[in-house]
This record gives sequence, structure tokens and C-alpha cells, in this order.
Amino acid sequence: MEIVIPLHGLTRGGQEFEFSLGDDFLERFSRDLIQGLDARADLVAEQKGGWIEIHCKVVGEAKVECDRCLEELQMPIGIDQRLTVRFDAEPEDVVNEDDNIIILREGTSEVDLAQTIYDLICVSLPMQKVHPQGQCSPAALSRLSDEANAKKDAPANTPFSGLKDLLKQKNNKD
Ligand SMILES: [Zn+2]
Repeated sequence: MEIVIPLHGLTRGGQEFEFSLGDDFLERFSRDLIQGLDARADLVAEQKGGWIEIHCKVVGEAKVECDRCLEELQMPIGIDQRLTVRFDAEPEDVVNEDDNIIILREGTSEVDLAQTIYDLICVSLPMQKVHPQGQCSPAALSRLSDEANAKKDAPANTPFSGLKDLLKQKNNKD
């Protein structure tokens, strides 16, 4: 799904665009971080002198994986960000220090903000994504701790275990 904003003929005072961001919005992206989405993007694009400002608000919920129990977790999204669209005759592929500036070739008539909005959502999520204390799935937690214990008990396959076998063989021969 694209989030296309026309760049020609925008008025001063701003023009509003509204998109609902559901699972079809995620189709272009890997589901590693965000597994589901139910949000709304309200964009206001306004022609300023030689550039365009896009005021971008996203409100809703993202479905992510809990870092502790690995079960589904709903995280609220609340983004309020101003983006600047500038034009350049020969735009270079320079990574801008400020990520909220988009530079396009002069004459470009529209911009697709899907990637930008996806990035804003990802950055807005907290580093630690966990259920509130006590609300993790008990079944999932006990399964995870069983798996961790099973790994601990498994015989270690180290270079030394091979050496031990060699020594045993040698001793048997003597
Ligand atoms: Zn959890």
C-alpha cells in the first residue's frame, strides 16, 4: 500500500489526507518488528515558500512480540511529526543528518510516504517491548524456561569431549 501525497497545487493553509493503516500497509515490509497494525494517519501538506511541510500524525496500535514471553503484545502508537520536503535539481543520495527532511528532484509531482511512516512507527516503539508486570502468558513463560533448562542439561559438544574419548581409547589399548 502506498501513502501518496501530491506535491503540485498544494495551497497555503494546508490540504488534509487521511489513510487507514492496516495489515495491507505492512505488506511491503518485513514482519520482524511489527506483526500487525491498526492505525490512522492524518497528514496535512502545506506549500511553504519553495518547500513543502507535511504534518504527520499517526494514532493507533501495533502488534509486536513481547520480549519476555514472545506472545502477542499491543503497543499504542502516537506520532506527531513534521516532515520537510525540499527540491533539488540534482538530488544526491546523501543521508541527511535530520531524517525528517525528504529531498526530491525538482518537478516531482508526488511522494510516497509509506517507508517514512513505517520508519517513524518503528522508531516510536520502545526498545523494551514487554507486557506490564504479571501480564505475560504464564504458559509461554514456563515453556521458555523448560527450553532454556533443556539446553543447559544437554551434553556440551566441546573440543575436549572428543579429546576425552581419544584418551579413553588409548587407555583401553594399554
Ligand atoms: Zn509478555
